Amino acid sequence: MTDKVEKPKLTRMEFLSLTMGRLAVSALGAVGMLGWLRRRKKNTVWQIDPMTCVSCGQCATHCVVSPSAVKCVQSYPICGYCRLCFGYFTPNAPELTSAAENQLCPTGAIERLFVEDPYWEYNIIEDACVGCAKCVEACEVFGNASFYLQVRHDVCVNCNDCSIARHCPSDSFSQVPADEPYILKHDQELLA
Ligand code: SF4
Ligand code: SF4
Ligand code: SF4
Repeated sequence: MTDKVEKPKLTRMEFLSLTMGRLAVSALGAVGMLGWLRRRKKNTVWQIDPMTCVSCGQCATHCVVSPSAVKCVQSYPICGYCRLCFGYFTPNAPELTSAAENQLCPTGAIERLFVEDPYWEYNIIEDACVGCAKCVEACEVFGNASFYLQVRHDVCVNCNDCSIARHCPSDSFSQVPADEPYILKHDQELLA
């Protein structure tokens, strides 16, 4: 996921019309639809302030959805495209290759692609990300802090009382307008 998160483009009526047929055949789709309707009805959604998150790891363990609705985001304008990415490699990686033993991410959710010497691009494979924040913490401490966490609203069911928010040690969760559901770090960096 990049930090260029697309916002919903359909009206509620258009969305309902398009999805009614699919509801009949897909239980998973029905769950997603309920979540969507709840978000629209409430007009607010839960989101993380990436500037205050301390990468404690509880986003991975306290979401009611499994794997967590919280995913890592890569901010390309902030990333240094480093050959040695501390968010990608374990601290004692034997070599700088994509071999599993060199990777910090426990689920292999970060893709490393060569751009041109000495630059490499790092992409989040969102379906594999569990929101553990290991890469976020390492990039914050040793890199440009371009990795950060966001609640993904195509997964989150928008609980009235977000269980992660209750446990977040830095009080980084808040309810934001549903039509501006993401707090993008790149925007905040530009404003700083
Ligand atoms: S609102 Fe519910 S589904 Fe969404 S992040 Fe919080 S606990 Fe997870
Ligand atoms: S280290 Fe954790 S937060 Fe980062 S991409 Fe992997 S699963 Fe997601
Ligand atoms: S619970 Fe709060 S501090 Fe911990 S990783 Fe999630 S947003 Fe960050």
